[in-house]
Amino acid sequence: KPLLIGVTGGIGSGKTTVCRIFEALGIPVYSADERAKWLVDHDAILKSDVTRLLGSEAYDEAGRYNRSWVAAQVFAKPDLLLQLNALIHPRVHADTELWARGYADKPYVIKEAALLRAAGEDGNNLDKLVVVQSPLELRIHRIHQRDPHRSAQEIKNIISRQISDEERIEMADYVVYNNDTQLLIPQVLRLHEAFCQTGL
Ligand code: ATP
Repeated sequence: KPLLIGVTGGIGSGKTTVCRIFEALGIPVYSADERAKWLVDHDAILKSDVTRLLGSEAYDEAGRYNRSWVAAQVFAKPDLLLQLNALIHPRVHADTELWARGYADKPYVIKEAALLRAAGEDGNNLDKLVVVQSPLELRIHRIHQRDPHRSAQEIKNIISRQISDEERIEMADYVVYNNDTQLLIPQVLRLHEAFCQTGL
């Protein structure tokens, strides 16, 4: 099984951009947030667990996940949200393992998510964690460029609900600085070389 490297960062930090560079180097990337959504929609075990936790309204008659209803249920109920995440988490974990095993020929593969804990923490399956870091103003600017309907205040609110840069850096084995003065591709190339060597 290849090494599993986590890539995380706050909204607009550039983690998707960093992952695109890894992909260009031939490294498979698992998008945990997208995959979690897919599993909630399709994974039979998860669907029955979610229904048991939240009630049958969690899915409509056609078996489709009622995302907005669930969001309303867990809104302002941190305990319930924790319980829901505790159901989703192990399924994503198992799914990542299965996915990674399909790439035995690769030196390493990447799991990307908006929130990842330090490698090895909470029994996660990461070998190393990369944190992508950008200055706050630049993140707001980039997100605003990408999603013009989002105001600067809205973006700041999202950022304030995420874990802080300091906490993220604390958990990191490697930090990629994605600002306009530091070049992004050389930093990713350096990591690629390190991960391709067995000793890290
Ligand atoms: P989100 O959590 O919102 O998905 P993200 O961390 O994945 O954000 P990206 O999607 O990679 O961030 O970047 C946010 C926006 O900023 C994108 O439109 C991307 O093209 C742009 N961007 C990121 N890094 C750079 C860069 N170094 N130079 C120019 N544009 C960049």
